[in-house]
Amino acid sequence: MPSKRIFLVGALWFAITAPILCQKEPAGRRDKTRVQREIPRENRPKNVILMIGDGMGLAQITAGMYANGNQIAFEKFPVVGLVKTASASDLITDSAAGATAYACGQKTYNKAIAVDVNKQPLRTLVEVLEEEGLSTGLVATSSFTDATPACFYAHQPDRRMQEEIANDVLKVRLEVLAGGGRKFFDQRKDGRNLLQDLRTIGYDVHTDWRQALTSRADRLACLASEEGMPRMSEGRGPFLPEFTVKTLEILSRNPRGFFCMIEGSQIDWGGHANDDQYIIQEMLDFNQAIENALNFAQNDKQTLVVVTADHETGGFGLTKGNLKGENIGGQFVTKDHTYCMVPVFAFGPGAEKFSGVMENTEIHRRILALLKP
Ligand code: MG
Ligand code: ZN
Repeated sequence: MPSKRIFLVGALWFAITAPILCQKEPAGRRDKTRVQREIPRENRPKNVILMIGDGMGLAQITAGMYANGNQIAFEKFPVVGLVKTASASDLITDSAAGATAYACGQKTYNKAIAVDVNKQPLRTLVEVLEEEGLSTGLVATSSFTDATPACFYAHQPDRRMQEEIANDVLKVRLEVLAGGGRKFFDQRKDGRNLLQDLRTIGYDVHTDWRQALTSRADRLACLASEEGMPRMSEGRGPFLPEFTVKTLEILSRNPRGFFCMIEGSQIDWGGHANDDQYIIQEMLDFNQAIENALNFAQNDKQTLVVVTADHETGGFGLTKGNLKGENIGGQFVTKDHTYCMVPVFAFGPGAEKFSGVMENTEIHRRILALLKP
């Protein structure tokens, strides 16, 4: 039976070498290793600033641009792409599934806070990068326990579990956390005072954001309002742009690098309210935060800035205004979110990875591939 034996040996040889010769790798590993292979360490960023305009589609950006004299920070980004936002459960995502895709790289059901479709916790960018020795920060103009920031540090089956979400912040080692939602920390059903707990584990804790800006601490927590922060039109002031600068000042003390997520939370609320002026004011505040992040990145030269949205809100259509930038605004087709693709803008080392049309989970994978040592 020598011919049969030769056949078997041949078949075995083929089985072992064919995958190598054909350069086949398991599908899951392939893209990640390719990104890392393609980008030499010196062309990869040391720091990443991810900025999320909640509910910010092209109409929101365009309205902000014309209301601002036909100019906006987005024009300074050399790379632009488009992001598909559908969640695992719905064509129309909510901010929880949207932020889980960015924080964890997996599509999940609407309302999920960094858990998968089986409600199992998913590791977030903050958890992974803290383990690698980077510094991390999260800033939002909503409650700090609201879905978008929550998905970067908490694991809960439902976004409405805000007191449980607040508990989870004690388990990660964020260098900076800032936003509203103080009542979920100090007016709780279980009687605990998490502001005190944050102090105990080493945070400089503030409830006035202007005072927090004067902090010299390496670990800063600012819970600046009981619930969501006030609207710009209600006198919030430049919390987001100034806390962006403060966050970058603190995080950049770490020679190993940093990751932060800065959210313009209320662009979405303007969309839900079908209020074009609310959208424009929140857009321009977010725009100033982007300008400040770009200034940092331009000087630093080792920082990637990625600006995107979790979804569009309102089905906003631009139908009003003139060339002088007067009365810019429009109409809405819904009080909810839509599933229209949203743009992504990138600036700095690795920016070229964010061109083209991609799923929202790709944003996570590309950031992680660029940042992980
Ligand atoms: Mg949000
Ligand atoms: Zn919304």
